[in-house]
Amino acid sequence: MRKILIANRGEIALRIIKTCQVLGIETVAIYSDADASMPYVREATKAVRIGESPVQKSYLKGDEVLAVAKAEGVDAIHPGYGFLSENSAFAKAAAEQGISFIGPSHEIIALMGDKVAARTTMQKANVPVVPGSENGVASVEEACEFAASIGYPVMLKASGGGGGIGMQLCFKEEELKKAYTSTKSRAKAYFGNDELFIEKYIANARHIEVQIFGDTKGNVIHLFERDCSVQRRNQKVIEETPSPFLSEEVREQICQTAVDAAKAVGYYNAGTVEFIVDEQERFYFLEMNTRLQVEHPVTEEMTGIDLVKWQILVADGQPLPLKQEEIRRQKHALEFRIYAEDPVTFLPSPGIISSIEWHEADGVRIDNGYSANTTVTPYYDPMIAKVIVSGKNRMEAIKTAQQFFERSSIEGIKTNLPLFKRVLQEEEFKAGNYTTAYLSTVLTKN
Ligand code: ADP
Ligand code: ADP
Ligand code: MG
Repeated sequence: MRKILIANRGEIALRIIKTCQVLGIETVAIYSDADASMPYVREATKAVRIGESPVQKSYLKGDEVLAVAKAEGVDAIHPGYGFLSENSAFAKAAAEQGISFIGPSHEIIALMGDKVAARTTMQKANVPVVPGSENGVASVEEACEFAASIGYPVMLKASGGGGGIGMQLCFKEEELKKAYTSTKSRAKAYFGNDELFIEKYIANARHIEVQIFGDTKGNVIHLFERDCSVQRRNQKVIEETPSPFLSEEVREQICQTAVDAAKAVGYYNAGTVEFIVDEQERFYFLEMNTRLQVEHPVTEEMTGIDLVKWQILVADGQPLPLKQEEIRRQKHALEFRIYAEDPVTFLPSPGIISSIEWHEADGVRIDNGYSANTTVTPYYDPMIAKVIVSGKNRMEAIKTAQQFFERSSIEGIKTNLPLFKRVLQEEEFKAGNYTTAYLSTVLTKN
């Protein structure tokens, strides 16, 4: 590989550029009008304007992205996360034009992008899935009938959903009836696919996912789990590894189940198998993400492995550099997603960043997309940076995080920095006692 186009923006574009620089690979960045003066545009070997600011006129224009890739003579495209990263038609078109798509095969992307099809596939591979409807529910009557048969509460979900969008928790039939119409039209608008299905709602649950990696020689390994239970609106806010909740026995089972699942579908490159884990440590498959995950840095800090480097090696046809028994848990790591949003209402807060003060220290890694005097626009996801702390154990990492948030600031826009300051003082968080409902309970306390 000599040249890679990065079909993304912000912190993840910079993250990918960094590894390419280490490997001596040239990079081509693409940018919309709103992003012309972003740091990643300056850092890439070359940057090409892709269109106007709205995503439909820029980062989602697959044909345009491929035309730039062709014109620039790149060997591969790294899609990052979001945007075109789980677009199987794009991955297929790239391959047909002789450009390597850094990810799994387009067939796997299509299969796992459909949550109903993914559930069926996993059941066939003997992976436990959340109890739920076998297929989509075709009408509101069918939805109510099924929900009554498994019992409330239930989650009504869009088969094509992602990013926490397109799901609704329902405690009783009236709620399900109401949610059915609104979720269906939302699913159609966001994902172009209005198929809905029903899952049992797992109460007091944890979101625990396994990082897996495969190569094109048939090897698949795991790089342990990440606990992503600290969420708002079903979206992750803090992630950590190892999970403070899992027993060694269940950790081994869940990681092996993820590897078996990946092998069953002939998976290669980076992937994440997401599970929901109940109070008794029983785990159920939720979905598989066929791309690099936002929270991949905690796995990198724990294992000392550069996952983007591995993605590039595998896309280049090389075998995985390490065997399962060579993957070691060396540290404890936590990631905090810094969002331009009101820390209480979680509403986005775009604007111009007037200053950024990061307290850099040992054990602190900052994956940042913005700099002072850049603008957080309403066009894209309001995540501006990720702060990753690591230490020889959880308490040491948490101390580093406390100092970081005491001494760091962002001016000009509202951010969730105050939320992290608060969470890091909470006894429950410090003890590792949290479920997916945790963050909303912190916020309702005085
Ligand atoms: P992760 O576990 O990597 O955070 P998410 O499902 O939250 O996975 O998605 C990662 C990012 O991609 C999010 O920050 C979000 O901006 C974006 N994203 C994912 N799916 C969608 C979608 N369907 N619509 C809009 N944005 C999405
Ligand atoms: P997305 O594609 O948007 O990431 P997921 O299916 O991965 O959707 O679910 C996102 C989050 O929603 C989970 O991490 C969890 O907190 C919550 N969730 C989803 N399904 C269930 C369920 N059946 N029971 C309890 N919580 C759920
Ligand atoms: Mg998910």
